[in-house]
Amino acid sequence: MSALIIDGKQISADMRNEMISEVAELKQKGVTPGLAVILVGEDAASIVYVGSKEKACIQLGMYSEVHRMAADSSEEQVLALIEKLNNQDSINGILVQLPLPKHINEKAIIDAIRVDKDVDGFHPESVGNLVIGDDSLLPCTPAGVIELIKRSGVDIAGKHAVVIGRSNIVGKPVAMLLLRENATVTICHSRTANLEEIAKQADILVVAIGRANAIDSKFVKPGAVVVDVGINRLDTGKLAGDVDFESCQTVAGHITPVPGGVGPMTITMLMKNTITAAKKVNGM
Ligand code: NAD
Repeated sequence: MSALIIDGKQISADMRNEMISEVAELKQKGVTPGLAVILVGEDAASIVYVGSKEKACIQLGMYSEVHRMAADSSEEQVLALIEKLNNQDSINGILVQLPLPKHINEKAIIDAIRVDKDVDGFHPESVGNLVIGDDSLLPCTPAGVIELIKRSGVDIAGKHAVVIGRSNIVGKPVAMLLLRENATVTICHSRTANLEEIAKQADILVVAIGRANAIDSKFVKPGAVVVDVGINRLDTGKLAGDVDFESCQTVAGHITPVPGGVGPMTITMLMKNTITAAKKVNGM
């Protein structure tokens, strides 16, 4: 048996096409969704990510601002910029590219973002709203995981979903979103006993641990949906997921590749959040 590949690139392209039309309609009504990205310092990966976010805004016809700040900028300077963007009507979403330089308190920065402009979904109030099921902007990578599963025609309700990884940016919010979709959810982590046994019970297995090829077919129930959030750079320079794709695809029913699975969805969901925020603030 060979699993169906969940094509994140294609799903992401489909969603962006839908959003191009939506943004054009919004602009006709006088609303242009706007995203501000703040980049502090010169981390090579961050520079690439910020460039991709800017490109995506332009592709979709949205307004984009990138604020590049020196690595030795003070916390006060970053907070002052956030305060300005919080009050700027042309900006519907504010994203601070992480990680920040060590002398800046990441939590203080995230807490300063206006909740209705928190397009990364990391503000404690956004997280709280997610947990209690209130309306909120959802964290992008976890929301992308749900979108991939749904757009592959898989019904989540009633399924046993196992999430491996419990980080605040991936594992926990993915688990909450799966619960909201009425899955029965188990969260595993580095201290879980019998990981293999538990993972093997999953109808939907989401892996976000940050270890290349750690999950092979022994962890996968025949026919399961396997979503690999991991992005690991190998010594060879190639990218690998947390899931051993070659091994798992012989057992799984659906599987995401790396690259080309969850990765392309993150920026797409960021664009979606910015559009959602723009509509909401304009009462649409
Ligand atoms: P993290 O290091 O913050 O958390 C890893 C989690 O995995 C922890 O909760 C830990 O308990 C668990 N874990 C570690 N080793 C384990 C093991 N052997 N068995 C079971 N659980 C184990 O990582 P993160 O930020 O959640 O990221 C996870 C992966 O997802 C990374 O590869 C990261 O690069 C990737 N990622 C991708 C995207 C994207 O696609 N856009 C976004 C965020 C993170």
